[in-house]
Amino acid sequence: MMIILSFDVEHDCPPYLTTTKGIEEGLPRILDLLAEKRVKATFFFTAEMARRFPNLVRRVIDEGHELGSHNYNHERLDRLSKEGGEKAIRKSLEILRQYSEVVSFRAPNLQFPDYYYRVLEKNGIFVDSSKARYKGYRKGVKFFGNVLEVPASTTSSVIRLPWRLQKLIHSRLSEPRVYFAHPWEFVRMQKEKIRWDCKFNTGSRALELLGELIEYYKKQKARFFLMRECYEKWESLINNQELGWKA
Ligand SMILES: [Zn+2]
Repeated sequence: MMIILSFDVEHDCPPYLTTTKGIEEGLPRILDLLAEKRVKATFFFTAEMARRFPNLVRRVIDEGHELGSHNYNHERLDRLSKEGGEKAIRKSLEILRQYSEVVSFRAPNLQFPDYYYRVLEKNGIFVDSSKARYKGYRKGVKFFGNVLEVPASTTSSVIRLPWRLQKLIHSRLSEPRVYFAHPWEFVRMQKEKIRWDCKFNTGSRALELLGELIEYYKKQKARFFLMRECYEKWESLINNQELGWKA
């Protein structure tokens, strides 16, 4: 089974807050847990957060995770002009590529007009994870030009649900199962003026549940993939007509 863990590294709970507690406190906790469990993940940073927290970007890379782009400062592509959106993506990549190669992208709020596949392709991105099955995207893993779409499976709050409840959801997901969460979910958000679904089980409970999710898949001998590895895997599936992986 193929699992992808991903984290969208942005300021706290956009658009409600502008603080960065998630990055300062939550991100190191996520990285500690992944190191303990020996699992790699993809971290989609906004360029603005990478610029402000360069040591954490370096830690992500040094520990073998993948660095991807989550746009410049969490601008929603569906609310920008085409020129404005392209400029934000280009600026984001310019900053993030000072740290490492960047080939994967996720649009803020998973709002991604198809027009932008061309923009990503032009800018050296070959994996996108901006579409969401839980938002009605039904095409599965698929190439748009030379960009492979690897859609997110569930919304981030699913992995904060009580374990027995979320387990039922996991077992119904098609492969690859692509999870995402945000560093701010791993600090206590209960007192903030944000939507209720952004608050419940945030903080240490979220971290325990993430640990539980990882163990659940390890027991099933699932493999954890980076976004860029997913591209390589998909290419070989197409070339070798390998069976056994239904998108
Ligand atoms: Zn985001």
